[in-house]
Amino acid sequence: MKRLEDKLTIEQFKKVIDVLNPCMDDYLYIYDIKGDHYCISPSAMMRFKLPACEFTDVVEMHARFTYPDDIVLLQEDLKKIIRKESNFHNMQYRWLDKSNKAVWINCRGSVLYDECGEPEYLVGCINEIGKKQRADNVSGLLGETSLQSEFQRYQNEEVKGFILRIGIDNFKEINENKGIEYGDMVIRKTADCIESVTSPGQHIYRIVADEFIVADFTGRSAEAAIKLYHKIHDRVNEFIESNCYEVFYTVSAGILDFSAVTKRVYTNVMKLSEFALNEAKERGKNRYYVYVKEDYDLFLQKKERLRQLRHSVNHNFEGFEAYFQPIADIKNRRLSSAETLLRYHSEETGAIPPMQFIPLLEESGLIIPVGKWVLNEAIKTCVEIRKSIPDFRVSVNISYVQVLKSDILNDILETLEKYGLDASGIMIELTESGFLEANENFVAFYEGLKTHNIALALDDFGTGYSNFRYLAEIYPHAIKIDRSFTLKALNNEYEYLLLQHMVNMSHSVDLKLCIEGIETKDELDKICGINPDYIQGYLFGKPCNYEAFHENYVKEKANK
Ligand code: C2E
Ligand code: CA
Ligand code: CA
Repeated sequence: MKRLEDKLTIEQFKKVIDVLNPCMDDYLYIYDIKGDHYCISPSAMMRFKLPACEFTDVVEMHARFTYPDDIVLLQEDLKKIIRKESNFHNMQYRWLDKSNKAVWINCRGSVLYDECGEPEYLVGCINEIGKKQRADNVSGLLGETSLQSEFQRYQNEEVKGFILRIGIDNFKEINENKGIEYGDMVIRKTADCIESVTSPGQHIYRIVADEFIVADFTGRSAEAAIKLYHKIHDRVNEFIESNCYEVFYTVSAGILDFSAVTKRVYTNVMKLSEFALNEAKERGKNRYYVYVKEDYDLFLQKKERLRQLRHSVNHNFEGFEAYFQPIADIKNRRLSSAETLLRYHSEETGAIPPMQFIPLLEESGLIIPVGKWVLNEAIKTCVEIRKSIPDFRVSVNISYVQVLKSDILNDILETLEKYGLDASGIMIELTESGFLEANENFVAFYEGLKTHNIALALDDFGTGYSNFRYLAEIYPHAIKIDRSFTLKALNNEYEYLLLQHMVNMSHSVDLKLCIEGIETKDELDKICGINPDYIQGYLFGKPCNYEAFHENYVKEKANK
């Protein structure tokens, strides 16, 4: 049974805590059980929701900063000590930090007894077992807490220098293919590569599994960081070569020059360096990216727009609207169908062009619910228009995401059935993309369309991966020539001949051809020379909502 030696009184112990406080990450404490008094390192008060670094009513007080689920457990353990069932406290549980977040701690302490053998003091140490890692034994480098300390030393000065945040590309695959031990070896070797090329004053930290930071507070700029990245890159390649290509991997880097940062607070600097590394990866990996404020603002704008789009989707698609643009049959220059074009506006942003919000919908998967909504609007509208124009057809754009990640064919069939529209009332527009067309889901989709006699148009033909061989496999009803191609053909003899050739080829395999983007009478006359089947463009009409469409085209045609 341990006793507190006469030499060290509680007051003296408190002094020891104060002296050691700046030298340690952990928190020392003494709990005077008999006097119901508690005293802990002052740094604990900065971090946790403690009322003070010294307080009475100890058990009750602990309940205020202990994570609620852990309170009973803690009280049980303390009772055991008081009942002399235990002489050592060793518990892993959670305290609440200043912002009320749970932080895992390991609290250990020895019980000291008085001369009658009653527990008198609990003396020990608390350490954080969560993220607060000072160093990492896999890479042999310091951890994020150490970086934070280094940063804080410079925070008050006008910091000059940079952060180079390095990430191993596709690290997850290395772990999956080669095992975790091999992955650890790659981390260690990469750390060695970085270490071998850094200069004095540059410190390396391992941040998360596959990310390192080189911090330079010596005033060097982004150019030095770029050079450093290239050196690291070369070293990694040498390692891969010396390892006989057992693994092949690349590294990306995000560079943050402190001169580009206005709010030089640690959390902000980390956030921006993370953005920079993500940007390097987004731009194709195996490269570096230097932080530019304008890019970050765009990234934030994109995030905000995505938030609004999601809000709209969850609020009955408010802000979305289906527009319709007339498509004319060249033979009689009469309206034959309309393309459904999605519009979006919100009070905060005003109208956002489809070329900006559609990629966001695609990236986020929101195109799946929105696409279904457009489909519903289009089919509903077609049924209305067919009351005046019985053979009217509506075109709907379908994104590759809908084909790859949803059962779009089923959605089309269900919606046709819901409104009682015949398959001849709809045409699906799909952007031809070459590499996707061999995908199983695509093949099943084309075949499903064919089985159900639903017409398909290949959109933006002539811009991307146009491949006539696919035409034979997919066998679309029509191809649509994008305005950029039309413009080229209107301004360049060779392009004009090429387009003419495409029209002839299409006709020879019984394909219809729609020319998009005709704005003037002149353009129309010239393009008619190559004998297309359909024309779509501002000359015949701009996209508009259903009311305007009905007013301008349907009423007029029905009256004739
Ligand atoms: P797209 O499918 O090629 O649609 C034709 C685009 O050309 C439309 O742009 C239309 O407004 C524009 N256009 C038509 N005639 C003319 C003209 O004479 N001059 C000029 N300068 N432009 C003309 P919009 O509405 O901005 O749509 C852009 C793209 O967004 C569409 O290109 C399509 O790829 C996509 N999109 C629009 N609505 C939807 C939708 O509901 N679902 C999906 N997945 N994509 C859509
Ligand atoms: Ca289209
Ligand atoms: Ca098009």
